[in-house]
Amino acid sequence: MSGEKRLLEALLATTRLIAANHPLQEVVHRLAEELNQLLSADRCSVLILDEENHQLAFHDSSALSQWERENIRFRLGEGVAGWVAQNREPVLIEDVTKDPRFKQHDGQMRQMVSMICVPLEMHRRLIGVLTLTTGRPDHIFVQEELELVVLIAAHISLALESHRLYELSVLDGLTNIYNRRYLDQRLSQELADSRRHEKPLTVALLDLDSFKKLNDTYGHQAGDQVLCELTGLISKELRQHDVLARYGGEEFALILAGTSGTDGLHLAERLRALVASRDFFYKNQKLPVTISLGLATYPEDGEDKMDLLRTADKALYRAKELGRNRVVSSSQGE
Ligand code: GH3
Ligand code: MG
Ligand code: MG
Repeated sequence: MSGEKRLLEALLATTRLIAANHPLQEVVHRLAEELNQLLSADRCSVLILDEENHQLAFHDSSALSQWERENIRFRLGEGVAGWVAQNREPVLIEDVTKDPRFKQHDGQMRQMVSMICVPLEMHRRLIGVLTLTTGRPDHIFVQEELELVVLIAAHISLALESHRLYELSVLDGLTNIYNRRYLDQRLSQELADSRRHEKPLTVALLDLDSFKKLNDTYGHQAGDQVLCELTGLISKELRQHDVLARYGGEEFALILAGTSGTDGLHLAERLRALVASRDFFYKNQKLPVTISLGLATYPEDGEDKMDLLRTADKALYRAKELGRNRVVSSSQGE
């Protein structure tokens, strides 16, 4: 196949991949593989800039040892990748051993000869860098290959940026779990699925007990820390398909698709007991943290989203009335 045809096919494949809404890790991995093959490189890596510590770390690489993935970082200005990130300019290096910018990391065994490194940017914001390397003296990258990498890098930037924007729109800024907007959409979808397949669905509303008092006594930062720890703790207990979202300030919602009222009650009780038995600390002070949960199940407690949420909220209110640190399902809440 001619070089041009091969290039067009590669571009088409990358565009399709981005449009198909696959998981980001897979999109970037496949783009890197595509590029690696196209240029017969030894390795293609995507390094992402961590905006907090200003370091580049590997996001994906076609051939990288676990040691390299976990240990190699480049500060801005450090190594070829750091230079490219700082200067926002693509580079083509024929022989890295003769380039003063190149930095060989201790423990990095691979032999490298030629390298292409280009910035990944979107709207002037630096996302990271893309690097390709060869270790064979008979394969030195050329200018046309650099141009090709620049083109595909634009696609990779687009995939990364659209993923970032998507996450910004559906995740809660404090706890990093889903936000209410996502919950609303997802609950509609899951309910439609439950209806179609005649399967139950349980919604649980979860609220921290006496949280105002905790904030008043230990400070707002202690409260924030509790919210983050709690969501981390609960997330680990859930199955992959269960959805945890922040519903309001110190109130969370769980969508348990395919889960009956009885099974939902068991799960909710397990979560309540887990939180009650867990020690939460802030600056060496032990914090009193318990939760109450209210449950409602489709189809018996409600046909649509609003019905279910309203019913679960009533059950939650009942759990508070009964003394907190407890679980009430809709049928018990009457
Ligand atoms: P109850 O057991 O009846 O739920 O009592 P409560 O004190 O938890 O309920 P109330 O609704 O009176 O107070 C909720 C408190 O949650 C008030 C608010 O300051 C706190 N809160 C809401 N969102 C956040 C947050 O993001 N961070 C922190 N630290 N506190 C929050
Ligand atoms: Mg509360
Ligand atoms: Mg509340």
